[in-house]
Amino acid sequence: MRAPLPDNEADRLAALQRYEILDSQSEQAYDDLTRMAAYIAGTPMALISLIDSDRQWFKSKIGLDAEDTPRDLAFCAHAILQPDSTLVVPDATRDVRFSGNPAVTGDLHVRFYAGAPLVTADRYALGTLCVIDRQPRQLEPERLAALQALSRQVVALLELRRIAAELRRAMADREVYLDKLREHQKTIEQANIDLQRSSLTDALTGVGNRAAFDQRLDEEIHRARRYGSALSLLLLDIDRFKEYNDTWGHPAGDAALRQFAGILRGRARPSDVVARYGGEEFALVLPATDRKGAAKVGEAMRAAVEQAEFPNRQVTVSVGVATLPGEEMDRDGLVKAADHALYAAKRGGRNRVVSA
Ligand code: GH3
Ligand code: MG
Ligand code: MG
Repeated sequence: MRAPLPDNEADRLAALQRYEILDSQSEQAYDDLTRMAAYIAGTPMALISLIDSDRQWFKSKIGLDAEDTPRDLAFCAHAILQPDSTLVVPDATRDVRFSGNPAVTGDLHVRFYAGAPLVTADRYALGTLCVIDRQPRQLEPERLAALQALSRQVVALLELRRIAAELRRAMADREVYLDKLREHQKTIEQANIDLQRSSLTDALTGVGNRAAFDQRLDEEIHRARRYGSALSLLLLDIDRFKEYNDTWGHPAGDAALRQFAGILRGRARPSDVVARYGGEEFALVLPATDRKGAAKVGEAMRAAVEQAEFPNRQVTVSVGVATLPGEEMDRDGLVKAADHALYAAKRGGRNRVVSA
């Protein structure tokens, strides 16, 4: 006779899955308990049987070759219906539930069965630790109690297994979490770099902005003082640019500013600082460059602009040059000197370089 399903069958199967035990390898610890069960009961057969949805699967077995059997034929499927008591069948031929069972009528010749349910802490009967004999018999109360004690040890082994699996998963989750954290960190660092770059870059021309100019000029002045090296500053102001705007429009003026900045950047050395000082005025900070060298750079820039093909008309630039060390030893003095020189270049007729 087929055993009815337990009332909590769906939850019971879910609980069984949590142990990840079905179809696992045989293990000495479980086999030891099965052997002790067979010894205590004095039976030729003992099993640890787990009741899956449509089969019973043996984690451990003595005196039996099968890996599993259909659930319909399982004595243990009856045993799990009463989680709190051990099912004892003294003579299966005299029990309507089992008298027609092929295990009883066939070669296996089962007569005696005693199955102690494997009950988890949350009250699910996953299967049994059972002993089986080929002749009718009884089991004394002490032996029955010992069988029940062993079934509790099987559950203890199962719990250890579940906790180990959970730990493994937690460790894996932790690794995944740490990976994600590292990735976030990288993103944030990159965002900071981008932010810093954009906060120091002139949006229209792509060269340094006024803040970048101030910062880099201070750094370069410090460096020049520490190493006693020269430092030059060029201020470059586009000639008659208001007129350019008025004639060709503001967008054309913007394009000219971009092209102008491109010329400066293309000719500057990597260590030079190119920045938009404001409006149509640009600055070049030249580390380790003396007065003569700076005048040469200024002249090269002026000539490059004069010779460049701008879309609407020729563009020229006036350049003021100042150099440290000089009479003006501080930062403000350097900028003022370059500005004066620039003013002189304008007054002198524009499109020229004047050194302070
Ligand atoms: P000077 O030769 O004496 O330098 O004459 P200028 O016309 O270049 O000098 P001024 O300072 O009178 O005019 C600068 C002009 O630069 C004013 C403004 O129209 C233009 N300008 C400043 N910033 C921008 C900008 O971002 N885009 C455009 N298109 N024009 C700008
Ligand atoms: Mg100007
Ligand atoms: Mg100008």
